[in-house]
Amino acid sequence: MNYNVLDILEHFAIKKILNHKNFKLHLFNSLRNMKVTLSAIKADIGAIGGHTRPSDELVEAVNKVVKENSKLLLDYYIGYTGDDIHIIMTHTRGADNKEIHKMAWDAFTEGTKVAKLQGLYGAGQDLLKDAFSGNVRGMGPGVAEIDIEERPSEVFCVFAADKTEPGAFNFPLWRMFVDARSSTGLLINERLAEGVKFRIMDVMTGKIAGLKLWGDKPELETALMYPGRYVVHSVLSSEGEQIVSASTDRLHNIAGTYVGKDDPIAIVRTQKNFPATEEAGSAFNDPHYVAGNTRGSHHMPLMPVKLNSAASLNYAIPIVSCLVFSMHDGILTGPHDGFGTADWDLQRQWASERAMIMRNQGFIHPATLVPDELEYNKGYEARIEKLNRKFEDLS
Ligand SMILES: [Mg+2]
Repeated sequence: MNYNVLDILEHFAIKKILNHKNFKLHLFNSLRNMKVTLSAIKADIGAIGGHTRPSDELVEAVNKVVKENSKLLLDYYIGYTGDDIHIIMTHTRGADNKEIHKMAWDAFTEGTKVAKLQGLYGAGQDLLKDAFSGNVRGMGPGVAEIDIEERPSEVFCVFAADKTEPGAFNFPLWRMFVDARSSTGLLINERLAEGVKFRIMDVMTGKIAGLKLWGDKPELETALMYPGRYVVHSVLSSEGEQIVSASTDRLHNIAGTYVGKDDPIAIVRTQKNFPATEEAGSAFNDPHYVAGNTRGSHHMPLMPVKLNSAASLNYAIPIVSCLVFSMHDGILTGPHDGFGTADWDLQRQWASERAMIMRNQGFIHPATLVPDELEYNKGYEARIEKLNRKFEDLS
């Protein structure tokens, strides 16, 4: 619902009182059954010297716009993973709200101006349309949003990836909600044991399939098998409560050609009847091969990294960071750095080793992507066209 009580009260000219944080909290407390919306919106709008990380000035430009419009929000956090900036917001305006999306678009537009001034690489890369048209979905930025009834101890993780594609989350989400070897919670929590519902998007048609565990398990796994086409859009509990929202946009489906990888972001609610926070985090502890990497043309393992990490110059190994939040009355505490503890150095080591094993194979499949994926790359198309002209019948 787009209607907002704060807006109505502001209309009656008591802004001074209303803008007082304690009053907002008080008002919020009195509206206990209102939904809070979690919005995570991200974009790559330029990075230093290639596809590394945004400049501090670029992050500040994004932050300035969000700060100036913070009356739309209950709270927010801004950070980055590789060259992707994410804006994590809490508010009461509902998912797909025009004002929230416009603010994110404006923030990325202002950041792009700084990126251009600084000569950053790929300035405005993910802003694929000229003008905002009501919703940033389908315009380049990635979006994950959930409307929730806040629990007394609300906990969620944001997984933000770089140098990969939306299907990169297929395997960890399968581990969280289907694989008891990865998550004992699937056996010993009554709600999880009942089986969740996956909503899978076919990114070629934009259609969604609802697949309910445990009856639809084989069809779910058939879809998850091909992350280039079938991508987890959301996960709901057996009672219909949304646990996961993940971005699904494929940039080449919007732009018609290769314009950079569609680095995904996902919100995963944890604890109580959802996966434990450590079950959600552990789903990333066996770095699996994903599409992405340099020129978006290779298969490489997904390395868990610390918050606000730059992408590596060692062939730009795909990376994922984990922002862990607590929330009360829409006010965030965190992020705690989910992959920041010392033990994750082991996974980083494994990912580096697996990356070298694959990259040592150079351009030969499966080190590189399948032709269907590479064909969005104009250079590959040109090579194949020239090659095909050289084929002749055996005489
Ligand atoms: Mg990126």
